[in-house]
Amino acid sequence: MTMHLPENKTKIVCTIGPASSSEEVLKELIINGMNVARLNFSHGDLEDQHEIIRRIRSISSDLDKFVTILADLPGPKMRVGKFQDEPVFLKKGSHVTLTTRDVPGTELVIPVNYKRLAQSLDIGRVVYLNDGFIQLNCTAVQGEDICCEVMVGGPLSSNKGLNIPGAALFIDPITDRDLEIVDFALNEDIHVFCASFIESAEDIRKLRGYAADKGRDIFVISKIEREKAVRNIDAIIAESDGIMIARGDLGVEIPIQDVPVVQKEIIHKTNLLSKPVITATQMLESMIENIRPTRAEATDVANAIIDGTDAVMLSAETAVGKYPVETVKMMVRIARSTEVWRSNNKEGTEMMKRALRRMHPGVEDVISMQVNDALQNLPVKYVVTPTVSGKTPRNISRFRPDRWILAFSRYPEICEQLALQYAVHPTYVREHVDDWEVTVTDTLKKWGFVDPGDMIILTQGQPGGQGHPGGTNLLKFITIQ
Ligand code: PEP
Repeated sequence: MTMHLPENKTKIVCTIGPASSSEEVLKELIINGMNVARLNFSHGDLEDQHEIIRRIRSISSDLDKFVTILADLPGPKMRVGKFQDEPVFLKKGSHVTLTTRDVPGTELVIPVNYKRLAQSLDIGRVVYLNDGFIQLNCTAVQGEDICCEVMVGGPLSSNKGLNIPGAALFIDPITDRDLEIVDFALNEDIHVFCASFIESAEDIRKLRGYAADKGRDIFVISKIEREKAVRNIDAIIAESDGIMIARGDLGVEIPIQDVPVVQKEIIHKTNLLSKPVITATQMLESMIENIRPTRAEATDVANAIIDGTDAVMLSAETAVGKYPVETVKMMVRIARSTEVWRSNNKEGTEMMKRALRRMHPGVEDVISMQVNDALQNLPVKYVVTPTVSGKTPRNISRFRPDRWILAFSRYPEICEQLALQYAVHPTYVREHVDDWEVTVTDTLKKWGFVDPGDMIILTQGQPGGQGHPGGTNLLKFITIQ
């Protein structure tokens, strides 16, 4: 049986929506490089999501390709309500009232779903609508009504987002609706979640605790999209299993000119802890309409990869765009080209080693550095890591090696998590393994990955210590016979 590894080591997350939920498109997305299917629970009802989950699983099983399903919880997103006739057009200099009363929207009165809006606003505070394209200035607060002047106008339709940068918000980042969705997702055997609008490590603990009370261990990716989350970033990364730089809301909540450096810093900090980081939103935005991206978009994807992102994410491009499959193919091409460049420019790897040395590395850190030294000096074909917790392949991945890390795990949920990790190819092993060296070499031969004389590296824990998570302390160079 010949197996093929993908062309690109950067992972691709696709948001599934009306443009991509059919059998045909899902199949093409999987064949062409989607590693993770993101279900955005802000949209669609649970019955629809159930059907999409079933479809993804059935196609990925038929194709024998691993696809992780990621449940993105909506969190406390503030939105405008429904308009009578839409879109309405807000004119610069005109006056408009935001209200928490239940009224149909017009260009004069706009309903908002956040009940304590009046408490979060004071005179002079700026309110952004529709991803920041419309800007209002608060001029008076009268009970449930907030009078505003339109500073920057534009068209507005139902359910668009509302942001109040820097304001105190009286909403729990983990909502009752989020918890309902967690129940649904756990029932569907999903265990990788994104938490939206979180502000502190405590929010993640709350979500994790909710699942733990039901006897479930979940993998939580924190979406960084509020200024407070940027301020608390170290504690949030430490508490999270992964991070998403949710540039859509982040680009409204903090000054947009700060997004590039915040992105770089968060990626670096997350890499250091060997946790996966996803760069999200507007990566190939113009491909919603066009068959080719702009030069700036192609450069943005490449730069996120050079920054060290594990995964790049497509949102509207695959959810509602005209060219979902072409967009994934384009992502793969940009990733491939950037990775070829990286294999000849090792500054990122060296920087990671220097940063890690300053952090007083432990045994597993040193092992991961040695693997990367070996890759730079020897013709090693693959790094093979049997793994219980996923930690060893993640530790090695953070140096962004140009060889594949083949992660073998007896735990399907660990394989799902590793689908997000740069250069890691997870394989689920059904049976108990007595001797990993024999199993791994036989498997690689069977797949047609190695020929006699090829060298591989095998990492392992204490002899007999199989099943002990995070105990890797052996590095073996094997020449295939
Ligand atoms: C974002 O804001 O960038 C994001 C990914 O979140 P959502 O798609 O839920 O708005």
